Amino acid sequence: MIASTQYVSDNEHWAGSSSQSSICSVEPSTPGDVAVIFGTIQKTRTTWAVKGGGHAFNSGFSSTDGVMISLAQFKEIDYSPTSSTVTVGAGNIWDDVYAKLAPLGVTVVGSRVPGVGMQKNILTYLGGGYSWITQKYGLSIDNIVSYEPVTPNAQILTVTAQSHPDIFFGLRGGGNNFGIVTGFVLKAHPQGQVYGGMLVYIGDIPAIRQAIQDFDANNNDPNALILPTYVYGGTLVVSIVLFYDGPTPPNGTFDAFLAVPGAVETDVKARSFLDFVQSLNQVSPASRVASHTVPIIRYTQRIVDAIVNQTIVSPSWNQPNNGLIDPNAFVALSIEPFNSDLYGHSTGGAYPHSPAHPWTPFQILISYTDPTADNVISAAARTAAAAIQQVAIEEGQSSPAAILYSNYAQKGTDLKLLFGNNLPLLRTLQARYDSHDLLSLTGGWRF
Ligand SMILES: Cc1cc2nc3c(=O)[nH]c(=O)nc-3n(C[C@H](O)[C@H](O)[C@H](O)COP(=O)(O)OP(=O)(O)OC[C@H]3O[C@@H](n4cnc5c(N)ncnc54)[C@H](O)[C@@H]3O)c2cc1C
Repeated sequence: MIASTQYVSDNEHWAGSSSQSSICSVEPSTPGDVAVIFGTIQKTRTTWAVKGGGHAFNSGFSSTDGVMISLAQFKEIDYSPTSSTVTVGAGNIWDDVYAKLAPLGVTVVGSRVPGVGMQKNILTYLGGGYSWITQKYGLSIDNIVSYEPVTPNAQILTVTAQSHPDIFFGLRGGGNNFGIVTGFVLKAHPQGQVYGGMLVYIGDIPAIRQAIQDFDANNNDPNALILPTYVYGGTLVVSIVLFYDGPTPPNGTFDAFLAVPGAVETDVKARSFLDFVQSLNQVSPASRVASHTVPIIRYTQRIVDAIVNQTIVSPSWNQPNNGLIDPNAFVALSIEPFNSDLYGHSTGGAYPHSPAHPWTPFQILISYTDPTADNVISAAARTAAAAIQQVAIEEGQSSPAAILYSNYAQKGTDLKLLFGNNLPLLRTLQARYDSHDLLSLTGGWRF
């Protein structure tokens, strides 16, 4: 049997290990269609999944062997200058959103990477959402005016802070626990030219480690942000994305990086925001990925050293003696030197992100091909995370109870570490909107 291109794209994911072959896929185009689907699932008790952009790192979170519900048809992008908001359908790719808004001189707090090729948005409005402009405006979930969910009870709602404060709280970080969101109304922000791009170096360069640490310790400018990633797959490659929200960063902002000789890529310049985002090449994963995260406040020298050492000294994911002879394997460790006021714009929600605890979402991602290595590789990601967190705790920059970012955390993580003290309330809310327990038929973080 030949699968239709629609079925293939409905089931496709950024990481192959996050895909499954569903029994069928369906593309609703109205909230009413979604309500009918939930009504049918109520009767048949079929397993199901909802997929937005398919960027989940965990298998089974947006895939199923039952009914795959793809949001590809929800394509609205509508800017209202009077309310300074943008209505965005849940099936858009970010390039299209940014491209439509660019001529209007506005943007939204959205993805940091482009969505090219297959339907790839990175819908961060249900998990958290760290963006290039987060230091200025908050996470994506802090920039929501309203959600349009269809709850598992098949209610079609327009949810604002005033109309449904309970589910508005739950949706801001609660993932798919309150049903399927077909659209979002987002705050719009002015957006002009930016300065930025990527520097790439081969090998471990002490001056780069120092520059990362100095930037992290000293940057107080909410317009300036960097994203350094150490990628190791036999050779160490360091990419550093520089971003400034304005065409000309003040002298000294990025000089320490730009002064390091030997970059093999130096695509850093003044450009449109869209061009900047589209210039960021995503590391394409091998067919499988394992992810995990460590909440870290400041990146001290010992912490940066521990991170780099995890790529070089203990690459357990890449050693023949672990039975993982996988020439395509690599590990990518992303440092997140957001400034200490990272959560100054927090509006609360299911994802605990308070100014009192400015934990940044340091990420470990291991990419590989061998399905028999799933358990070993997942354990390697957890082991590396634990080693780095131990150093961060010793440095006073993390704690055993610190909150992990749910979009990067590995399946199996204790829910208390994702939702903290919000967990009991979230359980009560979820039961209120899912009387038929349809969520037990799908994957994701289950309260
Ligand atoms: C290359 C890459 C770069 C990334 N960069 C960033 C970044 O810069 N900042 C950041 O914060 N995160 C980033 N992420 C993480 C990303 O935000 C999360 O993986 C996010 O969940 C992806 O959303 P999605 O719609 O693509 O995922 P999907 O795989 O489609 O869904 C993820 C989860 O959300 C649920 N879901 C999706 N859409 C809906 C909906 N409309 N209604 C209800 N439930 C839904 C799914 O059921 C699933 O449980 C990145 C991920 C990748 C792969």
